Amino acid sequence: MRALDETRLVETACELTGAEFAAFTLRPVNDEGEPLVPAEGGRFHLAAVAGVTPEQEALFRRMPLGGEGLLAPIFRHGVPVRVTDALAHLSQPEQTRATGQRNRDAARQAAFDYAHGQLSTEGLRSMGVPRGHPVVRSFLGAPLLDRTTQVRGGLLLGHREPGQFTRDDEALLVGLAAQAAVALENARLYRLAQRRAQELNAIFESIADGVTVMDHQRTIVRENGAARRLREQLKDTPEGERVVEALLYTPARHALSGEAVVDLLLSVVDSHNETREYLVNASPLRLLTTGPLSQKNDTPQNGVFGAVVTCHDTTERRLREAEHQAQAHASQLEAIFEALTDGVFVYDRHGSIVQVNTAARRLLALDVVPDYTARPLEERIALLDMRDTQGQSLPRGRSAPGRLLKGEVLTGANALEVQVRALDGQEMQVSIGGAPLRDQEGRITGAVMNELPSSVYLVHGSDARLILANRASATVWGASWPPGQPMDEFLREHGIRVFGMDGLALAPEQLATLRAVRDGEMVYQHQEVIRHSDGTSMHVLVNAVALDLHHLFSSPVDATKPLAEGTEPAALVVHQDVSTLKEAERRKDEFIAIAAHELGNPLAVLKSYAQALLFQARRGRGYELADWQREALQNIDLATHRLVDLTEELLDVTRLQAGQLALHPEPTDLVALTRRVVARLQVTTERHPITIHAAQEHFVAEVDPRRIEQVLGNLVTNAIKYSPEGGRIDLTLCEDPQADTVELYVEDQGIGIPAHQQARIFGRFERADNARKIDGTGLGLYICRALVEQHGGRIWFESLEDQGSAFFIALPNSSL
Ligand code: ADP
Repeated sequence: MRALDETRLVETACELTGAEFAAFTLRPVNDEGEPLVPAEGGRFHLAAVAGVTPEQEALFRRMPLGGEGLLAPIFRHGVPVRVTDALAHLSQPEQTRATGQRNRDAARQAAFDYAHGQLSTEGLRSMGVPRGHPVVRSFLGAPLLDRTTQVRGGLLLGHREPGQFTRDDEALLVGLAAQAAVALENARLYRLAQRRAQELNAIFESIADGVTVMDHQRTIVRENGAARRLREQLKDTPEGERVVEALLYTPARHALSGEAVVDLLLSVVDSHNETREYLVNASPLRLLTTGPLSQKNDTPQNGVFGAVVTCHDTTERRLREAEHQAQAHASQLEAIFEALTDGVFVYDRHGSIVQVNTAARRLLALDVVPDYTARPLEERIALLDMRDTQGQSLPRGRSAPGRLLKGEVLTGANALEVQVRALDGQEMQVSIGGAPLRDQEGRITGAVMNELPSSVYLVHGSDARLILANRASATVWGASWPPGQPMDEFLREHGIRVFGMDGLALAPEQLATLRAVRDGEMVYQHQEVIRHSDGTSMHVLVNAVALDLHHLFSSPVDATKPLAEGTEPAALVVHQDVSTLKEAERRKDEFIAIAAHELGNPLAVLKSYAQALLFQARRGRGYELADWQREALQNIDLATHRLVDLTEELLDVTRLQAGQLALHPEPTDLVALTRRVVARLQVTTERHPITIHAAQEHFVAEVDPRRIEQVLGNLVTNAIKYSPEGGRIDLTLCEDPQADTVELYVEDQGIGIPAHQQARIFGRFERADNARKIDGTGLGLYICRALVEQHGGRIWFESLEDQGSAFFIALPNSSL
């Protein structure tokens, strides 16, 4: 659209008014029509002239056609000016700068008064015309005003003779100026609309989601690049039309009937045979739009003129989510794998070891031979001397990995009983179980082998229905569990009961399997006793991990159908028979109990003699001791202290084991208790500032103060001990009103606990690898846990290796 023909305008103005020459000036504005320069006109630009020579035009362009003299009312105040003879209005000639300024001020004042109706035209002052300017005696000028009456420009007419312009001419010029202003405004709006349209277009095109606009007959009236590419790509697939129908036309039909489609998830196999997922939305267009949609004459019913369908490709996000979940599962499985007390090996199809857990490394002392696991199968078989029960060496082809990779399943009765000489020379009898790993087509891709057959089963649904179980699972339960049967029913049917370590029967919701499927809980090394219907029982360690079957087993679906809503929860459960371990442990406990007890007396004697001797030496009685003798005595005293502590710990362990550790609860202020512990331990270190943060001044709970002090003391000692570089230690006390517990936690910035060893850290004699250089027995946390649990409380921790640990205790608020 041509904005305005400025030259025609000035020519028309001359023709209609008989002016000899005319000028048209314009004020620069931005896209929004806002002026960019002040209204004086000095910086307006010359849009067109008529009736002047090229030299005069050049002069006009150089010279400000602005807000002085006769032009001032037009540009400064937006009113027209008609002067019969400009010569009659001339100001005094400028002799000095001062008179020049005075003249200008007077002219401005006159313009102001004129614009406000307080002065007739005669009172206006002309500043004269510069040299080279055509002589102007008759003068007529009108401003161009925009919608807000701001000056947008001016139309200026002149004649060398006086009295040339009439009142009618003035009205005519004002009319012309008004029309020009409207034309300018329209042109600006049109430009603006075009620019906006271009911007919108660019935005529309750059949207990564496919956006398609359809009219009410489901004809595509607009679509962006993404939508076009998607449609074109799908056109080439065998299922193409059906898919486009499902992605576009069906949602559009819904939208056209007035019903929006929200977040419909569709999965589609594209031309590269890849499954992609789209989130489809469609909404009705009810706007009475201008543009393509309104051009159709047939008026649709229900006021819906069209539909907008958007397709958001969620494949990448889903893949990322799936990957994330798979990683989380992998690390959960990894943690369980590490926590298993069975030695487990995973092989690839060539017999190379892909993974091996800590239990296997320990059992067979694999670390004795550098890079043992990286060596070829033949070499590994040669290093580990394996014989059958008759002591005959196993021929190579009969080695366990060899058999598994040939497809044999070695579980239950087929488990291999072998005699092995571990790499450190130790002889042992092991039972080897395992199974080949197969891909979807059933080809063998590797094998899993374990040293003691554990029971493994997979269940799903909140009632834990069996999906599959290995043979060892029948041994654990003393009955075989048919697939599809809920756990509760299976247990009832076979009279199987499960007990906790306190000897009490577990309610269904306490069973590791049900906790995993119902609450998604991950259960580590849970000790349970399974009592079979024939009265025999088995001590087991249970590990259970919740799985998302949808991600595990999902295969591409051709579907143009929505995906199934939420799949059922599932869990993988591993039971290890630890009855023999339990028996061995019981014997060990017995021995420890006796040893600890027997150690008590001689230690007390040693300690009292050492102290008596030191005391005497200090008092100067008896023989004078040499320095080294005094030092030796001090060392004996210290060592006996340590031994006394250790025997105390051991005695606690045996008391706990025998259920003979009695608590003496009384109302105790935990804040004061914490202060005591901190005061006692802060003097042992300068590099570990310990701070107490208590949400209240007192937290009174019904606990055994000596025992809780022991627990807290242990946690703070650990925090100090396992921060060898120093670092702050924070103790926080707060209340959890919901759980009705008092929480106490100890945070340090120390070495932390490696993730793969965290599951075992509360076990007896368990220590993390990164703690080996630091003195300790691995009994402290075991005792802490038992004490806290005996109080009806809970202890747990969070830790990151090399960053620090936080140990939490929650004690019931109410009395025991
Ligand atoms: P001990 O300290 O005598 O070894 P504990 O039972 O108190 O025994 O702790 C068991 C193991 O847990 C320690 O050996 C150490 O590996 C780890 N551990 C306990 N507390 C911390 C801590 N604050 N920071 C890092 N590791 C810890």
